Amino acid sequence: MTDHTTTSAAIGTTTTADAPVIRRMRHDTVRRTLRIAQVVRLTPNMIRIVAEGPELAGFVSGAPDDHVKIFVEGADGERVMRDYTPRHHDAAAGTLTIDFFDHEGGPVSDWARAAKVGDPISIGGPRGSQVIEGPIAHWLLVGDETALPAIGRRVEELPAGVSATVIGAVPGPADEQAFASAATVETRWLHRDAAAATDPAPLLAALAQVDLAPNTFVWIAAEAAVARAAREYLVGERGLDKRWIKAAGYWVAGQADSSAKNLGED
Ligand SMILES: Cc1cc2nc3c(=O)[nH]c(=O)nc-3n(C[C@H](O)[C@H](O)[C@H](O)COP(=O)(O)OP(=O)(O)OC[C@H]3O[C@@H](n4cnc5c(N)ncnc54)[C@H](O)[C@@H]3O)c2cc1C
Repeated sequence: MTDHTTTSAAIGTTTTADAPVIRRMRHDTVRRTLRIAQVVRLTPNMIRIVAEGPELAGFVSGAPDDHVKIFVEGADGERVMRDYTPRHHDAAAGTLTIDFFDHEGGPVSDWARAAKVGDPISIGGPRGSQVIEGPIAHWLLVGDETALPAIGRRVEELPAGVSATVIGAVPGPADEQAFASAATVETRWLHRDAAAATDPAPLLAALAQVDLAPNTFVWIAAEAAVARAAREYLVGERGLDKRWIKAAGYWVAGQADSSAKNLGED
């Protein structure tokens, strides 16, 4: 069902000449029912779903770390909704790709594991986008499995002439992903059990090895305590200017339907 058409408008910017700009855009909220065209195991722990359908017309996603709501039916028939990244929107082909991390005990993760070609998929949004712009020469993109869709999309959308370092935490080599890019990209994978995704130590150790060259923008998403610890380390111990970091908790250990978006801004 399409509620109404999408229009987009820039609603505000945060800017200074020497720092990045976060251009905030709002989009009319549109609920769409699409059809699953493809389901693949991208890696052992990541399920890729490609959706299509006439209601995709007018879909807008202005930034790699946008999110849509995925609506599923919970165990008791209740409506459940969770945030997922529009990993790739191909307007010409009329497809939208979303990657689901396969974890225990989540209704949306359970739904993705059982999804089949031909099933409906119900999405809402994105309601807005935060477009990061400015004098950025280098991107440091840090995260766990749930961050890989946004990191992959960011890397793929970077132009030539900039560079990026990706630090990705996954269970093992088979869960590593390859991202095509016009930019120069170095990827460092950390291997730890999925059960250790709430331990900040591996990411902090990896960050300790990273040079923070001038004009590096840092983007972090992981379990909330991990993302918070990484942000505090970079700002508190490494002296990173807060205008050069955007960090989010994409999930909260032990809490369903929970996140901590825009850490340090609330
Ligand atoms: C802006 C944004 C974008 C996101 N994009 C993506 C994306 O593209 N792909 C993606 O896979 N996830 C993404 N996430 C994370 C996703 O929304 C959460 O993992 C969500 O909780 C999953 O819903 P669920 O129904 O499976 O589990 P829930 O019902 O929310 O949680 C059930 C239990 O599982 C735990 N849990 C939740 N997530 C994880 C996890 N990753 N690992 C281990 N335990 C977990 C919870 O702590 C809880 O105890 C994004 C989150 C945000 C805020």
